[in-house]
Amino acid sequence: MKIIDLYKKNKVVLSLEVFPPRANYPVETVFQTIEELKKLEPAYISVTYGAGGSSRARTVEIASRIKREYGIEAQAHLTCVGHDKKDINSIMDQLLEEDVHNIMALRGDPPLDDPDFDYSRGEFPYASELIKEIKKRDEFGIAAAAHPEGHPECSRLKEDLFYLKEKVDTGVDFLISQLFFDNRVFFDFVDRARSTGINCLIIPGIMPVLNSLQIRRIIYLCGASMPARLLKIVDKYEDKPQDMEKAGIEYASSQIEELIVNGMPGVHLYTMNRAWQICKIVSNTGIIQTGSSERGS
Ligand code: FAD
Repeated sequence: MKIIDLYKKNKVVLSLEVFPPRANYPVETVFQTIEELKKLEPAYISVTYGAGGSSRARTVEIASRIKREYGIEAQAHLTCVGHDKKDINSIMDQLLEEDVHNIMALRGDPPLDDPDFDYSRGEFPYASELIKEIKKRDEFGIAAAAHPEGHPECSRLKEDLFYLKEKVDTGVDFLISQLFFDNRVFFDFVDRARSTGINCLIIPGIMPVLNSLQIRRIIYLCGASMPARLLKIVDKYEDKPQDMEKAGIEYASSQIEELIVNGMPGVHLYTMNRAWQICKIVSNTGIIQTGSSERGS
């Protein structure tokens, strides 16, 4: 099944993102998390590709097992940086063999040891080139990334939106947003995307702030801005990890509630492989009850 069809059911779609453990950790650790997360009856679970140093080889395996062993639709992330057409087609072959028909198509970031990495030297300098290659098969549902505050490499949101439209027009079914902490930023972004002619679904991506170190790293990596309310929380609980976690859970819960009340078709939760915190957030909202509540009600 292509994931876009799940969004056509007029239900709020809960989707969750997990990452593969690093190569020196047993792969089973992620399944302990998924075992807990499945109680939320997510419509689908996505598996990152090499993000944050996790093992690339495990993405196909984990996506495949999510589908076969848990009966949950799976979306495999695929980044094109550093890959040629042969690599990309070989990964697509593996996904089809495992009955995984949904890809989150991304460019990826430069290798950590090569900050001056030149994308233009590769066969896929941008995600849109990867999407063209995936489209040739006509066998995958395709999602792509949207950056509500603009991609850090792009100095003007207008230009970023221009390339985003180009990417969507290449053949994207829907977009999932980069994390953001201020819903107004997301609502404004959706308005601007619509006025640029981007008409596909844009699903908000939410990452709960569970500790102060994590938040600093994330802001450094993706440049998300922090509203005053969240800044106060981080300052207040910097040295009180348990209180920080509790406040972060509450903050994410209220963000989600507001998004759903405003008619968003779904929410994508960056779980960071944390099970109970994510379960608590979903149950707090009272809106997504086992993934089956009516939209905006
Ligand atoms: P693109 O859409 O290619 O855009 C990258 C930059 O290039 C932007 O600044 C854009 O404006 C510009 N651009 C695009 N087209 C052109 C053009 N034709 N000419 C000039 N400039 C252009 N990373 C991982 O490593 N693994 C993951 O699993 C992963 N999952 C993610 C999931 C989500 C939902 C999101 C939002 C991000 C994820 N990332 C992941 C991070 C992502 O790889 C980075 O943000 C990356 O830097 C950009 O990827 P992209 O697909 O948005 O790139």
